[in-house]
Amino acid sequence: MGKVLVIGAGGVGSVAVHKMAMNAEIFEVITLASRRRFKCDAIAESVKARTGVTIATAEIDADDVPATVALIREVGPDLVVNLALPYQDLNIMDACLETGVDYLDTANYEPRDQAKFEYHWQWAYHDRFKAAALTALLGSGFDPGVTSVFSTYLAKHHLDSIETIDILDCNGGDHGQHFATNFNPEINIREVTAPARHYENGEWIETPALSTKQRFDFAEVGEKNMYLMYHEELESLAKHIPGLKRARFWMTFGDAYLTHLEVLQNVGMTRIDPVMYEGREIVPLQFLKAVLPEPSSLGETTKGKTNIGVIATGMKDGQPKTVYIWNVCDHEDAYAETGNQAVSYTTGVPAMIGSAMLLTGKWAGDGVFNMEQFDPDPFMDMLNEQGLPWQVKELDGPLAF
Ligand code: NDP
Repeated sequence: MGKVLVIGAGGVGSVAVHKMAMNAEIFEVITLASRRRFKCDAIAESVKARTGVTIATAEIDADDVPATVALIREVGPDLVVNLALPYQDLNIMDACLETGVDYLDTANYEPRDQAKFEYHWQWAYHDRFKAAALTALLGSGFDPGVTSVFSTYLAKHHLDSIETIDILDCNGGDHGQHFATNFNPEINIREVTAPARHYENGEWIETPALSTKQRFDFAEVGEKNMYLMYHEELESLAKHIPGLKRARFWMTFGDAYLTHLEVLQNVGMTRIDPVMYEGREIVPLQFLKAVLPEPSSLGETTKGKTNIGVIATGMKDGQPKTVYIWNVCDHEDAYAETGNQAVSYTTGVPAMIGSAMLLTGKWAGDGVFNMEQFDPDPFMDMLNEQGLPWQVKELDGPLAF
């Protein structure tokens, strides 16, 4: 049915191409390109061993727009799936516009020198994608991604109107390391150390990072402390869900993780501005990334489960109603299937499903779109079929806090 060029050979790229190869009737030809080709070749070998499918590989620096344009012309894909880092988003969108190819990613554009999680840079491409009759689908991971689709699914099937959304992201996995991040450490630490921000009555309310917490009992994981954070889907949900009064994002962190992070922050290791070291500039957070475990190396030892979901409140048939929808993903099962732990799995599978939505024409439109702008049903069906089954239940009331 279609040809894809996937850019980025990290944990997420690895899961996405494994799952694409398992859906060969949709993804007929797959090319994986990344900054270092040997990483693509290692993934291609695993895909061949696990699925029997051969995928092509290539080396590309996606910050180099002319080189990316040349690669897209050589490969001739119907869709470019950007699973590199958020820094590359605009460059890859430019290359897609120049070559007339659809675009998909899993994280919003970030400038390297500021930890800003905002969609306006990518939304500004809407008119150009529209004029070129191309689709750009933003944020097709789990959060953002599935959490937005969960929200529209609840709006479509369980509530007449949505008033509040709380996104709950719990990783109950244990990798046996003193300190490690589950996805790219630089991106992860920028996100966690940024001030918390939530949407309430048309305004954005900012609070210090990790200063608001509450306990929640996660199905199949247990009770955890979860902390109020900013997350990019809050911005698009506030824009696209009519009548939304409040939207918040919560993530669980263990005490040991937070203690390590506090020390690293206090000593300046999480800074993203350059400092001089032995006559050359280095960015402390980039140096820290170099000494931390590679997230992809954690798969083998990680045990436990993730549980990510959405609690929405609103009205149904004139009565207030609270509904909870969530997915549980087991780290060891994810590793057995694709050789990657659950955080990569829960992002790579939705990246594959979003790509399938575009290639099959189930989701179509000219311009730049967020996940909640399309019909949730075909995406939700594929989640159940492709390893991320979900459950939904009514709660007695909203979150305590
Ligand atoms: P990794 O760091 O493991 O992988 C990123 C890959 O991109 C690496 O292979 C890297 O190459 C490659 N890359 C980096 N820069 C370039 C470049 N200039 N040109 C070409 N390739 C490049 O990250 P993850 O796989 O964990 O995450 C991938 C994306 O998914 C990120 O954008 C992340 O923010 C997003 N994400 C989204 C989530 C969601 O739920 N929506 C959750 C988790 C992640 P090299 O190996 O050479 O460094």
